[in-house]
Amino acid sequence: MDYQYTLQLHSGTFQKSNYSWEEIKTKCDQILTHIQVKQMIIGWNTDTELNQKILDYFHEKDIRVLLWFPLLLQENDERELKKMEGYHGNSFDFCCPTHLHNAHACIALYEKYFAKLPFDGIFLDKIRYASFSQGYEAGFGCFCEECMKQMHSVDIDAVKALIDTHDIRLLRGEYDRCGRYHFADSQVNAFYKRRSQLISDLVFKLAAYFNSRKLIVGIDLFAPILAYHVGQNIKEIAKYVDFIKPMMYTHTNAPAAIPYEYNVYLRNFESSEAFSKHFPGGPLSSESLRYQMDFIKNVPATVIPGIEINPISGVCDTNAEAVQKHLHIFREFKNIALCWDVMRMDDEILAVL
Ligand SMILES: [Zn+2]
Repeated sequence: MDYQYTLQLHSGTFQKSNYSWEEIKTKCDQILTHIQVKQMIIGWNTDTELNQKILDYFHEKDIRVLLWFPLLLQENDERELKKMEGYHGNSFDFCCPTHLHNAHACIALYEKYFAKLPFDGIFLDKIRYASFSQGYEAGFGCFCEECMKQMHSVDIDAVKALIDTHDIRLLRGEYDRCGRYHFADSQVNAFYKRRSQLISDLVFKLAAYFNSRKLIVGIDLFAPILAYHVGQNIKEIAKYVDFIKPMMYTHTNAPAAIPYEYNVYLRNFESSEAFSKHFPGGPLSSESLRYQMDFIKNVPATVIPGIEINPISGVCDTNAEAVQKHLHIFREFKNIALCWDVMRMDDEILAVL
């Protein structure tokens, strides 16, 4: 098909590379003879020599390369991020979006390992609150002192009381044209509004920093129907970045994928009709996916829907037929991102692109 593709390649963690240079070159040689690739999103291994080889390889072919950089999730790395604090005081793997230390620690890590390399841009990942897939308490985000200072306009005790009883008011509401969810309960609405502002503020700060380094900025977002629930106000975030990549993952049995996140919602509330009614035909129907696409049609950034192309036994059961179907659903978008690791894409999938 006639798409301009963005390819995501998971080169490894901060500590360890997933592939050798030879493996990457062999796979990419094969892919590039078949499809037109506009940009690569590669990360986040810190091996300078490997990264330089990758950059040279793609730059020779006039393909731009963005560094894939995860933010609010502490790996076994040196950032020592301030963890998110739940409303009962537990701490979680996801980290606080408000604490300035976290933005600074991410920038410091970038400067140490990547700033000297000629990346064309940065792709911000995990810049959101935890979802319910990290646990019910985690799903409401951070109640640390810094975050609470920012919640002064919210009756936080009233919201906590609703959380304690899994109250349906935590679900009831309507989407607007841009996918922002307006909760019927005024305090729940104020709470979620503030959360999204704190995430948008962090995106603004980081985008300003990376723009000052002459880098383009892209961002990974939850699927449009789920994004606001994890603090991502699509319309607002799109003002600060060059492109957004909503994760339209329908075949992955893991956090951030649409069916997985949807089912966690249902599990946490006795009656979730107030939520499920927004998914016409169920979370995976073409109708539901198209309904979500309407949320992002007119945002002030390029939209690059992300579809899964890596079959992984027990994790992602996509195949050539599913990829073909998704390409058709998203046909009005010129750009498509093939996620999340092209190294695992098989020949049958490559053949339908
Ligand atoms: Zn916090």
